[in-house]
Amino acid sequence: MQGTSLKGKNALVTGSTSGIGLGIARSLAAQGANIAFNGFGDAAEIAKLQAQLASEFGVKTFYHGADMSRPEQIADMMQAAESGLGRIDILVNNAGIQHVANIEDFPTDKWDAIIAINLTSAFHTTRLALPSMKAANWGRIINIASAHGLVASAQKSAYVAAKHGIVGLTKVTALETATTGVTCNAICPGWVLTPLVQKQVDARAAAGGLSIDEAKKGLLAEKQPSGEFVTPEQLGALAVFMCSDAASQVRGAAWNMDGGWVAQ
Ligand code: NAD
Repeated sequence: MQGTSLKGKNALVTGSTSGIGLGIARSLAAQGANIAFNGFGDAAEIAKLQAQLASEFGVKTFYHGADMSRPEQIADMMQAAESGLGRIDILVNNAGIQHVANIEDFPTDKWDAIIAINLTSAFHTTRLALPSMKAANWGRIINIASAHGLVASAQKSAYVAAKHGIVGLTKVTALETATTGVTCNAICPGWVLTPLVQKQVDARAAAGGLSIDEAKKGLLAEKQPSGEFVTPEQLGALAVFMCSDAASQVRGAAWNMDGGWVAQ
Protein backbone atom coordinates (compact mmCIF):
# COMPACT_ATOMS: atom_id res chain seq x y z
CA MET A 1 0.00 0.00 0.00
CA GLN A 2 1.56 3.27 -1.07
CA GLY A 3 0.17 6.77 -0.73
CA THR A 4 0.78 10.28 0.48
CA SER A 5 -1.47 10.43 3.55
CA LEU A 6 1.46 11.07 5.90
CA LYS A 7 3.52 13.25 3.58
CA GLY A 8 5.57 15.77 5.56
CA LYS A 9 4.99 14.04 8.91
CA ASN A 10 8.00 12.89 10.92
CA ALA A 11 7.84 9.48 12.60
CA LEU A 12 10.23 8.14 15.19
CA VAL A 13 10.09 4.35 15.58
CA THR A 14 12.14 2.86 18.41
CA GLY A 15 13.70 -0.54 17.73
CA SER A 16 13.19 -0.12 14.00
CA THR A 17 16.34 -1.85 12.76
CA SER A 18 14.56 -5.22 12.80
CA GLY A 19 11.25 -7.07 12.90
CA ILE A 20 8.00 -5.28 13.71
CA GLY A 21 9.58 -1.83 14.10
CA LEU A 22 11.15 -2.07 10.66
CA GLY A 23 7.81 -3.23 9.18
CA ILE A 24 6.02 -0.26 10.75
CA ALA A 25 8.73 2.17 9.63
CA ARG A 26 8.36 0.88 6.05
CA SER A 27 4.55 1.20 6.14
CA LEU A 28 4.71 4.78 7.47
CA ALA A 29 7.38 5.69 4.88
CA ALA A 30 5.18 4.19 2.15
CA GLN A 31 2.60 6.82 3.14
CA GLY A 32 5.20 9.58 2.84
CA ALA A 33 6.37 9.93 6.45
CA ASN A 34 10.00 10.79 7.13
CA ILE A 35 11.52 8.18 9.44
CA ALA A 36 13.80 8.45 12.46
CA PHE A 37 15.24 4.96 13.01
CA ASN A 38 16.50 3.65 16.32
CA GLY A 39 17.84 0.28 17.38
CA PHE A 40 20.97 -1.82 17.43
CA GLY A 41 22.76 -3.39 14.49
CA ASP A 42 25.62 -3.16 12.06
CA ALA A 43 26.24 0.48 11.06
CA ALA A 44 26.58 -0.34 7.34
CA GLU A 45 23.34 -2.38 7.39
CA ILE A 46 21.48 0.44 9.10
CA ALA A 47 22.83 2.98 6.58
CA LYS A 48 21.58 0.64 3.82
CA LEU A 49 18.09 0.48 5.40
CA GLN A 50 17.99 4.28 5.55
CA ALA A 51 19.10 4.65 1.92
CA GLN A 52 16.60 2.01 0.77
CA LEU A 53 13.62 3.72 2.40
CA ALA A 54 14.73 7.14 1.19
CA SER A 55 15.02 6.03 -2.44
CA GLU A 56 11.97 3.74 -2.47
CA PHE A 57 9.55 6.24 -0.96
CA GLY A 58 11.23 9.64 -1.43
CA VAL A 59 11.33 10.36 2.31
CA LYS A 60 13.99 11.74 4.63
CA THR A 61 15.56 9.37 7.14
CA PHE A 62 17.54 9.78 10.34
CA TYR A 63 19.16 7.34 12.76
CA HIS A 64 20.06 7.50 16.43
CA GLY A 65 21.42 4.47 18.25
CA ALA A 66 20.14 5.39 21.74
CA ASP A 67 20.04 2.48 24.16
CA MET A 68 16.41 2.55 25.28
CA SER A 69 17.37 1.44 28.77
CA ARG A 70 19.25 4.75 29.24
CA PRO A 71 17.09 7.84 29.90
CA GLU A 72 19.88 10.29 29.05
CA GLN A 73 20.44 8.62 25.67
CA ILE A 74 16.69 8.70 25.00
CA ALA A 75 16.64 12.45 25.72
CA ASP A 76 19.58 12.94 23.36
CA MET A 77 17.79 10.94 20.63
CA MET A 78 14.58 12.96 20.95
CA GLN A 79 16.49 16.21 20.64
CA ALA A 80 18.68 14.99 17.78
CA ALA A 81 15.70 13.61 15.83
CA GLU A 82 13.93 16.95 16.15
CA SER A 83 17.04 18.80 14.96
CA GLY A 84 17.55 16.28 12.14
CA LEU A 85 14.01 15.93 10.81
CA GLY A 86 11.83 18.45 12.65
CA ARG A 87 9.04 18.02 15.20
CA ILE A 88 8.14 14.38 15.89
CA ASP A 89 4.51 13.95 14.79
CA ILE A 90 4.31 10.18 15.15
CA LEU A 91 5.99 8.25 17.93
CA VAL A 92 6.03 4.46 17.82
CA ASN A 93 7.32 2.90 21.03
CA ASN A 94 8.38 -0.51 19.78
CA ALA A 95 11.84 -1.46 21.12
CA GLY A 96 11.61 -4.58 23.22
CA ILE A 97 13.40 -7.65 24.48
CA GLN A 98 12.32 -10.96 25.99
CA HIS A 99 13.64 -13.42 28.57
CA VAL A 100 11.94 -16.66 29.52
CA ALA A 101 12.35 -18.24 32.98
CA ASN A 102 10.35 -19.11 36.08
CA ILE A 103 10.10 -16.25 38.61
CA GLU A 104 12.41 -17.89 41.15
CA ASP A 105 15.07 -18.35 38.46
CA PHE A 106 14.53 -15.01 36.71
CA PRO A 107 17.83 -13.06 36.59
CA THR A 108 17.23 -9.72 38.33
CA ASP A 109 19.28 -7.84 35.74
CA LYS A 110 17.01 -9.25 32.99
CA TRP A 111 13.94 -8.10 34.93
CA ASP A 112 15.38 -4.58 35.19
CA ALA A 113 16.35 -4.49 31.49
CA ILE A 114 12.92 -5.68 30.30
CA ILE A 115 11.06 -3.14 32.44
CA ALA A 116 13.44 -0.36 31.31
CA ILE A 117 13.34 -1.15 27.58
CA ASN A 118 9.78 -2.45 27.15
CA LEU A 119 8.05 0.02 29.50
CA THR A 120 10.04 2.89 31.01
CA SER A 121 11.52 3.98 27.67
CA ALA A 122 7.98 4.71 26.42
CA PHE A 123 7.39 7.00 29.41
CA HIS A 124 10.52 8.96 28.51
CA THR A 125 9.85 9.26 24.77
CA THR A 126 6.21 10.14 25.42
CA ARG A 127 6.95 12.81 28.03
CA LEU A 128 9.51 14.39 25.69
CA ALA A 129 7.34 14.20 22.54
CA LEU A 130 4.05 15.41 24.02
CA PRO A 131 4.76 19.15 24.49
CA SER A 132 5.38 19.80 20.78
CA MET A 133 2.57 17.45 19.70
CA LYS A 134 0.16 19.31 21.99
CA ALA A 135 1.44 22.68 20.75
CA ALA A 136 0.77 21.59 17.15
CA ASN A 137 -2.56 19.99 18.20
CA TRP A 138 -1.68 16.88 16.20
CA GLY A 139 0.18 13.75 17.13
CA ARG A 140 0.02 9.99 17.14
CA ILE A 141 1.58 7.81 19.81
CA ILE A 142 1.47 4.08 19.12
CA ASN A 143 2.74 1.70 21.78
CA ILE A 144 3.63 -1.79 20.64
CA ALA A 145 2.37 -3.90 23.53
CA SER A 146 1.50 -7.56 22.95
CA ALA A 147 -1.17 -10.18 23.52
CA HIS A 148 0.87 -10.38 26.73
CA GLY A 149 -0.41 -6.88 27.54
CA LEU A 150 -3.86 -8.46 27.87
CA VAL A 151 -3.26 -12.01 29.09
CA ALA A 152 -0.33 -13.84 30.69
CA SER A 153 1.88 -16.82 29.93
CA ALA A 154 4.06 -18.67 32.42
CA GLN A 155 7.79 -17.88 32.49
CA LYS A 156 7.35 -14.35 31.13
CA SER A 157 6.90 -12.36 34.36
CA ALA A 158 8.91 -9.29 33.38
CA TYR A 159 7.56 -9.19 29.82
CA VAL A 160 3.92 -9.60 30.89
CA ALA A 161 4.36 -6.99 33.65
CA ALA A 162 5.95 -4.53 31.20
CA LYS A 163 3.32 -5.15 28.50
CA HIS A 164 0.38 -4.80 30.92
CA GLY A 165 2.15 -1.64 32.14
CA ILE A 166 2.41 -0.13 28.67
CA VAL A 167 -1.31 -0.78 28.08
CA GLY A 168 -1.92 1.22 31.29
CA LEU A 169 0.42 4.00 30.17
CA THR A 170 -1.44 4.07 26.84
CA LYS A 171 -4.77 4.67 28.61
CA VAL A 172 -3.39 7.47 30.80
CA THR A 173 -1.74 9.16 27.81
CA ALA A 174 -5.03 8.89 25.90
CA LEU A 175 -6.95 10.50 28.77
CA GLU A 176 -4.46 13.33 29.21
CA THR A 177 -4.69 14.13 25.47
CA ALA A 178 -8.40 13.36 25.02
CA THR A 179 -9.45 16.91 24.10
CA THR A 180 -6.51 17.48 21.75
CA GLY A 181 -5.52 16.31 18.28
CA VAL A 182 -3.06 13.87 19.84
CA THR A 183 -4.10 10.22 20.16
CA CYS A 184 -2.42 7.34 21.92
CA ASN A 185 -3.17 3.67 21.32
CA ALA A 186 -1.54 0.30 21.81
CA ILE A 187 -1.19 -2.51 19.30
CA CYS A 188 -1.18 -6.00 20.82
CA PRO A 189 0.36 -8.49 18.38
CA GLY A 190 0.26 -12.24 18.77
CA TRP A 191 3.18 -14.32 17.45
CA VAL A 192 5.16 -12.57 14.69
CA LEU A 193 8.13 -14.45 13.25
CA THR A 194 10.91 -11.95 14.08
CA PRO A 195 14.36 -12.58 15.61
CA LEU A 196 12.75 -12.16 19.09
CA VAL A 197 10.42 -15.11 18.44
CA GLN A 198 12.91 -17.14 16.37
CA LYS A 199 14.96 -17.51 19.58
CA GLN A 200 11.91 -19.06 21.29
CA VAL A 201 11.32 -21.34 18.28
CA ASP A 202 14.97 -22.47 18.37
CA ALA A 203 14.81 -23.11 22.14
CA ARG A 204 11.62 -25.16 21.70
CA ALA A 205 13.18 -27.19 18.87
CA ALA A 206 16.30 -27.88 20.94
CA ALA A 207 14.35 -28.80 24.09
CA GLY A 208 11.91 -31.14 22.31
CA GLY A 209 14.25 -32.58 19.66
CA LEU A 210 11.95 -31.06 17.02
CA SER A 211 12.57 -29.63 13.58
CA ILE A 212 12.28 -25.82 13.30
CA ASP A 213 9.05 -26.26 11.38
CA GLU A 214 7.57 -28.53 14.06
CA ALA A 215 8.62 -26.07 16.75
CA LYS A 216 6.91 -23.20 14.88
CA LYS A 217 3.70 -25.21 14.52
CA GLY A 218 3.78 -26.18 18.22
CA LEU A 219 4.30 -22.57 19.31
CA LEU A 220 1.35 -21.37 17.23
CA ALA A 221 -0.91 -24.27 18.24
CA GLU A 222 -0.53 -23.43 21.94
CA LYS A 223 -1.72 -19.82 21.70
CA GLN A 224 -2.75 -18.64 18.25
CA PRO A 225 -5.95 -20.29 16.94
CA SER A 226 -5.36 -19.18 13.33
CA GLY A 227 -2.22 -21.30 13.26
CA GLU A 228 -0.51 -18.52 11.28
CA PHE A 229 1.97 -15.82 12.23
CA VAL A 230 0.94 -12.15 12.17
CA THR A 231 3.24 -10.20 9.81
CA PRO A 232 5.09 -6.90 10.33
CA GLU A 233 3.32 -5.62 7.18
CA GLN A 234 -0.11 -6.26 8.71
CA LEU A 235 0.94 -4.45 11.88
CA GLY A 236 2.30 -1.61 9.75
CA ALA A 237 -1.08 -1.25 8.04
CA LEU A 238 -2.80 -0.98 11.44
CA ALA A 239 -0.29 1.68 12.51
CA VAL A 240 -1.03 3.64 9.31
CA PHE A 241 -4.75 3.44 10.10
CA MET A 242 -4.12 4.70 13.63
CA CYS A 243 -2.33 7.70 12.09
CA SER A 244 -5.26 8.51 9.79
CA ASP A 245 -8.06 11.04 10.34
CA ALA A 246 -10.51 8.12 10.42
CA ALA A 247 -8.83 7.00 13.66
CA SER A 248 -8.99 10.38 15.40
CA GLN A 249 -11.52 9.03 17.91
CA VAL A 250 -9.67 5.78 18.50
CA ARG A 251 -8.16 6.67 21.87
CA GLY A 252 -6.69 4.48 24.59
CA ALA A 253 -7.38 1.27 22.68
CA ALA A 254 -5.37 -1.90 23.17
CA TRP A 255 -5.98 -3.35 19.73
CA ASN A 256 -5.10 -6.98 19.37
CA MET A 257 -3.95 -8.45 16.04
CA ASP A 258 -3.22 -11.94 17.21
CA GLY A 259 -4.89 -14.67 15.13
CA GLY A 260 -7.53 -15.04 17.85
CA TRP A 261 -5.13 -15.47 20.83
CA VAL A 262 -7.02 -13.34 23.37
CA ALA A 263 -10.48 -14.33 22.13
CA GLN A 264 -10.07 -17.69 23.88
P1 NAD B 1 13.21 -7.80 17.20
O1 NAD B 1 14.18 -8.46 18.12
O2 NAD B 1 13.13 -8.22 15.78
O3 NAD B 1 13.42 -6.22 17.22
C1 NAD B 1 13.65 -5.51 18.40
C2 NAD B 1 14.20 -4.14 18.04
O4 NAD B 1 14.46 -3.45 19.28
C3 NAD B 1 15.52 -4.19 17.30
O5 NAD B 1 15.58 -3.12 16.38
C4 NAD B 1 16.55 -4.01 18.41
O6 NAD B 1 17.79 -3.47 17.94
C5 NAD B 1 15.81 -3.02 19.27
N1 NAD B 1 16.32 -2.98 20.65
C6 NAD B 1 16.47 -4.00 21.52
N2 NAD B 1 17.00 -3.53 22.67
C7 NAD B 1 17.17 -2.20 22.51
C8 NAD B 1 17.68 -1.16 23.33
N3 NAD B 1 18.14 -1.39 24.56
N4 NAD B 1 17.72 0.09 22.83
C9 NAD B 1 17.29 0.36 21.57
N5 NAD B 1 16.80 -0.59 20.74
C10 NAD B 1 16.75 -1.85 21.23
O7 NAD B 1 11.80 -7.98 17.94
P2 NAD B 1 10.30 -7.78 17.45
O8 NAD B 1 9.63 -9.09 17.57
O9 NAD B 1 10.23 -7.00 16.19
O10 NAD B 1 9.75 -6.90 18.67
C11 NAD B 1 9.37 -5.54 18.55
C12 NAD B 1 8.32 -5.23 19.60
O11 NAD B 1 7.16 -6.01 19.35
C13 NAD B 1 8.76 -5.55 21.02
O12 NAD B 1 8.29 -4.55 21.91
C14 NAD B 1 8.07 -6.86 21.30
O13 NAD B 1 7.83 -7.06 22.66
C15 NAD B 1 6.77 -6.66 20.54
N6 NAD B 1 6.06 -7.89 20.20
C16 NAD B 1 6.63 -8.87 19.45
C17 NAD B 1 5.91 -10.01 19.16
C18 NAD B 1 6.45 -11.11 18.30
O14 NAD B 1 5.80 -12.17 18.22
N7 NAD B 1 7.58 -10.95 17.65
C19 NAD B 1 4.62 -10.16 19.65
C20 NAD B 1 4.08 -9.15 20.43
C21 NAD B 1 4.81 -8.02 20.70
